[in-house]
Amino acid sequence: MSQREWIEKDFYKELGVSSGASQDEIKKAYRKLARDLHPDANPGDTKAEERFKAVSEAHAVLSDPAKRKEYDDTRKLFAGGGYGRGGFGTGAGGGFSQEFNIGDIFGGATTGDGGLGDLLGGLFNRGGTRTSSRPRRGADVETETTLGFREAAQGVTVPLRMTSPSPCTTCHGSGAKPGTSPRVCPLCNGTGVVSRNQGAFGFSEPCDECRGSGSIIDDPCVDCHGSGIQNRTRTITVRIPPGVGDGQRIRLAGQGEAGLRGAPSGDLYVTVHVSQDKVFGRNGDDLTLVLPVSYSELVLGTTVSVPTLDGRVGVKVPPGTADGRILRVRGRGVPKRGGGAGDLLVTVKVAVPQKLDGDAVEALKRYQEAERAGGFDPRAGWAGA
Ligand SMILES: [Zn+2]
Ligand SMILES: [Zn+2]
Repeated sequence: MSQREWIEKDFYKELGVSSGASQDEIKKAYRKLARDLHPDANPGDTKAEERFKAVSEAHAVLSDPAKRKEYDDTRKLFAGGGYGRGGFGTGAGGGFSQEFNIGDIFGGATTGDGGLGDLLGGLFNRGGTRTSSRPRRGADVETETTLGFREAAQGVTVPLRMTSPSPCTTCHGSGAKPGTSPRVCPLCNGTGVVSRNQGAFGFSEPCDECRGSGSIIDDPCVDCHGSGIQNRTRTITVRIPPGVGDGQRIRLAGQGEAGLRGAPSGDLYVTVHVSQDKVFGRNGDDLTLVLPVSYSELVLGTTVSVPTLDGRVGVKVPPGTADGRILRVRGRGVPKRGGGAGDLLVTVKVAVPQKLDGDAVEALKRYQEAERAGGFDPRAGWAGA
């Protein structure tokens, strides 16, 4: 935890207590919130999980009188007019969100000074070395799931079971043994970086004492060995939207790995595989289907009942339909993201009987003669070739 974050965060508000609250009131407020927001009580609820982390973080600071005093002092210094408003903008967040690197100016005065210079030096130097000292965001997690063709087309809710690092349930992610809390690193003053002077220049580098985390754990939690995270198998329920295609990746924000010591969680990416269907194929939002028909059905015309995703539909084959023609049934395809649906594309394909009984053969021969007598020549277009 760094002072920069202390300035931006209102731990009292997080716990719903006044800034004059007693240690007892703080403990009570935290216990109730921790119970209500605990991840085990709210599976899959990322908002509750984030609040839970924020509340744990607030409690870790406010429950420790020394740390609470330091927090109060830091906020007073920056909110009280001095550096907060006059120098760097109106809101606490506004001033520091700019990449305002004043480190070089203060850099020379910071080392070993122990007073205001340390605080400012640490704060502003962070502008240039932010990546090394900010609590590390949890990693993104990749997983896969295989859906049936119709599930993918219509949308489905699936449970995903996965093992990944989560906030330790024993220490609630702080890494410190329950009843103790991490203390601010004395070497870097909680900023995670230290400044060194070389000639006229001030350099910042990650603090060795706390390995850039800004805090030191004297009494590590035995279950997570001080890391604040542990592997947990969890099942989350994922709503797959209708119309997802084979190989598509879906992003679920905040469902990835837990961040170290209360940093934000990463995202979860689910790659969806869609299995083949015996009847249907897909072309974007259009559903495709091959409809086997007999020669006589194509010649004489017919109406055939064909399956759809949610029932059946009658498809009219007009008399004289050519083999291979595609008949379009509007709006009976795959549901679209913004509403509506694609079309159902029915390709007619002649099925030729491999065996016919005598009567049918006789009839077909008579038909063939009548066809020739009528002047039908299937290769008329080839005249002269
Ligand atoms: Zn732990
Ligand atoms: Zn340190």
